[in-house]
Amino acid sequence: MKRRPLIAGNWKMHLDSVKARQLARDLIPAAASAGNYDVMIAPSPTLLPVVAEAVRGSTIILGGQNVCWAAQGAFTGETSPAMLLELGCRMALIGHSERRHIFAEDDRLINKRLSGALEHGLIPILCLGEMLEARRQGLTFKILEEQLRSALINISITSSDKLIIAYEPVWAIGTGQTATTEQAQEVHVFLRQLIGDIFDKTIASGIRILYGGSVKPETMAALMYQNDIDGVLVGGAALNAESFSKIINYS
Ligand code: PEP
Repeated sequence: MKRRPLIAGNWKMHLDSVKARQLARDLIPAAASAGNYDVMIAPSPTLLPVVAEAVRGSTIILGGQNVCWAAQGAFTGETSPAMLLELGCRMALIGHSERRHIFAEDDRLINKRLSGALEHGLIPILCLGEMLEARRQGLTFKILEEQLRSALINISITSSDKLIIAYEPVWAIGTGQTATTEQAQEVHVFLRQLIGDIFDKTIASGIRILYGGSVKPETMAALMYQNDIDGVLVGGAALNAESFSKIINYS
């Protein structure tokens, strides 16, 4: 099945409103010429209004960096799906390695976030990935299977466009060390098979699986050449208009 690639930028806790507005504006031409690709950026929640205004009318999709399951309530420090939707977001990252490892978000919490996002009509980008030690010990597939299965407990989706997966090996995030294209492709095939097992084969063949971890303009083409890599999730290189534009227009 032909899957529409997604090139997503995670701005993390960077930029101020002036820089964010400028970066968003500078990305519009690259996104417009991206053809059959989706381009998404995920600024920090405080920057969303400014960025939403800057990209209005363009092809750029907005995303949240995380999302709570509840519509509203006593959840200090959280952002609800409705709040993200009101600001124009269509997607939200969930389970990013920085949430898992710095803020101790566990699989149960990630499952709740995912369930809430889906219920409210946001497309979750479920991030998963193994630590370096796990890879060294040959535990990569075991860890990924645990992360995927527990994130998807009691979750059902009606079509493959409702959910996106991002494989982000923790040892490759922000380290300059990209997984080889073979390592990434091997994991993506494994995750696609698991999705088939958890949901069904139609969903598995249509679902987008992104790679993330030190993606640069120079590494983009080789990654995208792999059959099961349907786009990328970019951190550092998404903070610079020139490098992210090159990533978007890599071909
Ligand atoms: C990320 O934050 O999801 C990421 C992949 O970061 P970087 O591209 O900087 O490794």
